[in-house]
Amino acid sequence: MLYIVGLGPGSLDLMSPMAQEVLQKVDTIVGYTTYIKLVKDFIQDKEVINTGMKREIDRCEKAIELAQAGKEVAVISSGDAGIYGMAGLILELLSSQGSDLEVKVVPGITASIGGAALLGAPLMNDFCHISLSDLMTPWEMIEKRLHAAAQGDFVICLYNPKSKGRPKHLEKALKIIAGYKGEETIVGIAKDIGRPKEETIITTIKDLDDRLVDMTTTVIVGNRFTKVYNGMMYTPRGYKL
Ligand code: SAH
Repeated sequence: MLYIVGLGPGSLDLMSPMAQEVLQKVDTIVGYTTYIKLVKDFIQDKEVINTGMKREIDRCEKAIELAQAGKEVAVISSGDAGIYGMAGLILELLSSQGSDLEVKVVPGITASIGGAALLGAPLMNDFCHISLSDLMTPWEMIEKRLHAAAQGDFVICLYNPKSKGRPKHLEKALKIIAGYKGEETIVGIAKDIGRPKEETIITTIKDLDDRLVDMTTTVIVGNRFTKVYNGMMYTPRGYKL
């Protein structure tokens, strides 16, 4: 059996009991080194296969091979494995191999959901996820989606907002969004959710200091009605009060 497990954003109390049960019972855990660290308490005498960030295909092929040989294997991703994680890649590989291997996807709390709870209730109305990483999606496509989401006034959760290879992506994305929603739109920044350096900042597109944003940050841009009260960010659902 091949399990694809979402670990949640970092801390054990945000990992589902189902994910913990699976990690306890499998023979082998496969994942990127940083995520293996998150589950170190479950490893004990298990086989661990960890490769660097860019080796996802090798890692998933290896996991499939081991599961086909009869082992109980868990492939792990942070957050939810089906949101910019390993679940889709495993299914793509199985489909290209014509394999009928049994797979179970175990859900996890994704960064936007973990971050939204820290910030208040920014996702109370329609929202979407956009990753600013152009490693696999061309930047033109990302820009097209930013325009469409901003024009529709969706609350927008930005994943992969910044890295060394793409220092300007967040700035460019916010400029596109501000063109539709305005520069006063509320933005919530959730850093290192569920980890020791967890931090949140509520600001506006205009005042956002993008030096505060890094690889383990999720940026939630409100819609035109999103407000701040008492240090919490919220998007009205539409109740008549
Ligand atoms: N599968 C993951 C997302 C992987 S993409 C999930 O469902 O959460 C990686 C991006 O997710 C990061 O660049 C960041 O934007 C976001 N992210 C992942 N973990 C985070 C955390 N603990 N705190 C804040 N953002 C996080």
